[in-house]
Amino acid sequence: MAAKILGMQIAELRAANNGDLPAYAWPGGYPMFYLAADGGILCPTCANEERAKRADSDCPDDREWRVVDGDTHLEGPPMACDNCGELIKSSYGDPDCEECHGDGGPNHTECATCGAD
Ligand SMILES: [Zn+2]
Ligand SMILES: [Zn+2]
Repeated sequence: MAAKILGMQIAELRAANNGDLPAYAWPGGYPMFYLAADGGILCPTCANEERAKRADSDCPDDREWRVVDGDTHLEGPPMACDNCGELIKSSYGDPDCEECHGDGGPNHTECATCGAD
Protein backbone atom coordinates (compact mmCIF):
# COMPACT_ATOMS: atom_id res chain seq x y z
CA MET A 1 0.00 0.00 0.00
CA ALA A 2 1.57 3.24 -1.11
CA ALA A 3 1.64 6.25 1.15
CA LYS A 4 -0.85 9.01 0.63
CA ILE A 5 0.35 12.55 -0.06
CA LEU A 6 -2.09 15.39 0.59
CA GLY A 7 -4.76 12.72 0.97
CA MET A 8 -4.07 11.20 -2.44
CA GLN A 9 -2.10 8.29 -3.81
CA ILE A 10 0.99 9.38 -5.75
CA ALA A 11 -0.60 8.37 -9.06
CA GLU A 12 -3.77 10.29 -8.21
CA LEU A 13 -1.74 13.35 -7.26
CA ARG A 14 0.16 13.22 -10.57
CA ALA A 15 -3.10 12.77 -12.48
CA ALA A 16 -4.59 15.80 -10.71
CA ASN A 17 -1.58 17.96 -11.67
CA ASN A 18 -1.13 17.15 -15.36
CA GLY A 19 1.27 14.34 -14.56
CA ASP A 20 3.47 16.29 -12.17
CA LEU A 21 3.84 16.22 -8.42
CA PRO A 22 3.19 19.68 -6.97
CA ALA A 23 6.06 21.84 -5.68
CA TYR A 24 3.70 23.54 -3.23
CA ALA A 25 0.67 22.39 -1.31
CA TRP A 26 -2.49 24.47 -1.65
CA PRO A 27 -4.13 26.06 0.18
CA GLY A 28 -1.22 27.57 2.06
CA GLY A 29 1.57 27.37 -0.49
CA TYR A 30 3.67 25.12 1.72
CA PRO A 31 6.86 23.76 0.11
CA MET A 32 6.76 20.06 -0.79
CA PHE A 33 9.49 17.44 -0.71
CA TYR A 34 9.40 13.83 -1.81
CA LEU A 35 10.95 10.60 -0.63
CA ALA A 36 12.34 7.97 -2.98
CA ALA A 37 12.23 4.22 -2.43
CA ASP A 38 15.91 4.23 -1.38
CA GLY A 39 15.14 6.73 1.42
CA GLY A 40 16.59 9.71 -0.43
CA ILE A 41 14.97 13.13 -0.60
CA LEU A 42 13.83 14.41 -3.97
CA CYS A 43 12.98 18.02 -4.75
CA PRO A 44 9.79 18.54 -6.79
CA THR A 45 11.86 19.13 -9.95
CA CYS A 46 13.57 15.75 -9.65
CA ALA A 47 10.33 14.04 -8.60
CA ASN A 48 8.97 15.22 -11.95
CA GLU A 49 11.90 14.03 -14.06
CA GLU A 50 10.88 11.61 -16.77
CA ARG A 51 12.96 8.96 -15.03
CA ALA A 52 10.97 9.38 -11.81
CA LYS A 53 7.68 9.13 -13.67
CA ARG A 54 8.77 5.94 -15.38
CA ALA A 55 10.42 4.36 -12.32
CA ASP A 56 9.65 0.67 -12.14
CA SER A 57 8.95 -0.79 -8.70
CA ASP A 58 10.59 -4.05 -9.82
CA CYS A 59 13.84 -2.42 -10.95
CA PRO A 60 16.50 -1.94 -8.24
CA ASP A 61 18.19 0.78 -10.32
CA ASP A 62 15.02 2.87 -10.13
CA ARG A 63 14.90 2.93 -6.35
CA GLU A 64 16.50 6.36 -6.10
CA TRP A 65 13.92 7.75 -8.54
CA ARG A 66 10.72 6.03 -7.50
CA VAL A 67 8.66 8.41 -5.35
CA VAL A 68 7.05 6.55 -2.46
CA ASP A 69 6.09 9.39 -0.16
CA GLY A 70 6.05 13.13 0.20
CA ASP A 71 5.06 15.83 2.60
CA THR A 72 5.01 19.54 3.27
CA HIS A 73 8.15 21.06 4.79
CA LEU A 74 6.65 23.37 7.40
CA GLU A 75 9.46 24.15 9.82
CA GLY A 76 13.14 23.44 10.27
CA PRO A 77 16.36 23.79 8.31
CA PRO A 78 16.35 23.48 4.51
CA MET A 79 16.40 19.94 3.13
CA ALA A 80 18.79 19.12 0.31
CA CYS A 81 17.65 17.06 -2.66
CA ASP A 82 19.79 13.92 -2.80
CA ASN A 83 19.78 14.02 -6.57
CA CYS A 84 20.51 17.63 -7.56
CA GLY A 85 21.37 19.28 -4.24
CA GLU A 86 18.60 21.87 -4.55
CA LEU A 87 17.57 23.20 -1.15
CA ILE A 88 13.95 22.89 -0.14
CA LYS A 89 13.31 25.61 2.41
CA SER A 90 10.65 25.18 5.05
CA SER A 91 7.62 27.41 5.13
CA TYR A 92 8.29 28.93 8.54
CA GLY A 93 12.08 28.72 8.64
CA ASP A 94 14.16 27.13 11.34
CA PRO A 95 13.42 28.15 14.95
CA ASP A 96 16.97 27.04 15.80
CA CYS A 97 18.57 29.12 13.04
CA GLU A 98 21.48 31.08 14.51
CA GLU A 99 20.94 33.90 12.04
CA CYS A 100 17.29 34.68 12.59
CA HIS A 101 15.77 32.21 15.09
CA GLY A 102 13.06 31.53 12.56
CA ASP A 103 11.70 35.07 12.41
CA GLY A 104 13.50 36.32 9.29
CA GLY A 105 16.06 38.41 11.18
CA PRO A 106 16.05 41.96 12.58
CA ASN A 107 14.93 43.53 9.31
CA HIS A 108 12.31 40.85 8.66
CA THR A 109 13.90 40.13 5.34
CA GLU A 110 14.12 36.59 4.11
CA CYS A 111 16.83 34.66 5.93
CA ALA A 112 19.35 33.24 3.46
CA THR A 113 20.37 30.56 5.94
CA CYS A 114 17.04 28.92 6.70
CA GLY A 115 14.51 30.60 4.44
CA ALA A 116 12.36 32.27 7.09
CA ASP A 117 10.62 35.39 5.87
ZN1 LIG B 1 16.43 17.67 -7.08
ZN1 LIG C 1 17.24 31.86 9.56
